Amino acid sequence: MSSFSRFAAIAVATLLSIATSRAQDAIPSVPRELLEDIATGSRVLADLGVVDAFGHVSARHPTNPKHFLMARSVAPAQVTAADIMEFDENGEPVDARNRAVFLERFIHAEIYKARPDVNAVVHTHSPGVVPFSVSRTPLRPLYHNAAFLGEGAPVWDIGKEFGATDMLVRNNAIGKSLAAALADKSVVLMRGHGDVIVGPAVQAAVFRAYYTDVNARLQAQAIGLGSDVTYLSAEEAAKADGVNMVIMDRAWALWKQKVQPGK
Ligand SMILES: [Zn+2]
Repeated sequence: MSSFSRFAAIAVATLLSIATSRAQDAIPSVPRELLEDIATGSRVLADLGVVDAFGHVSARHPTNPKHFLMARSVAPAQVTAADIMEFDENGEPVDARNRAVFLERFIHAEIYKARPDVNAVVHTHSPGVVPFSVSRTPLRPLYHNAAFLGEGAPVWDIGKEFGATDMLVRNNAIGKSLAAALADKSVVLMRGHGDVIVGPAVQAAVFRAYYTDVNARLQAQAIGLGSDVTYLSAEEAAKADGVNMVIMDRAWALWKQKVQPGK
């Protein structure tokens, strides 16, 4: 190897090592595990067909609760821990470094502001859910895994407050309206768009996002059978939701294994 090529090789290796360490230290105050959970949740929802090229998963910042963490603008199946960025309470990036950010980040900003109990937010355009966002048939829990729907899943119509838009939550005012419609629930449907799901942790929000989609598909099938459908009662839903919160670790372990890089 000539001295020039040796120099070039060392220079490239140094630059790569700087780039890698910068990516790993993207948000030094946040445990690596939480960044991994956000990335894993994104890839899991893509693997389960709940999101495709669009949709996002976020978590509240663990030590600065006004801020939240979310990937740069990238398809959910491609998110890694190095893609996670920090955003302030208005949804603006703290350290953008020329990275593109999601247009609908205001969904997350306004929900974290309105709901101190929420530590994770998921937004999807879930194909199972969209029909319920444009119909007068309410989404209701058909089976135990979707018991959290027992508290209700309101439909938010962007047109009621904002007229004819491109349907996107592209500013704080629209995000605030959506957060108000969510109120104290776990799920809000967005008319002609998708849904938003919240939880006390990333795992819970991902679990609920998946079973909201599955329940919607099953409910449409059950309604299609033509006779009256029996839903979970409020008491059954409350009891089953308590169990789900305990057993969701098993689902998370399975889903996580399936989306590990290299699988
Ligand atoms: Zn959207």
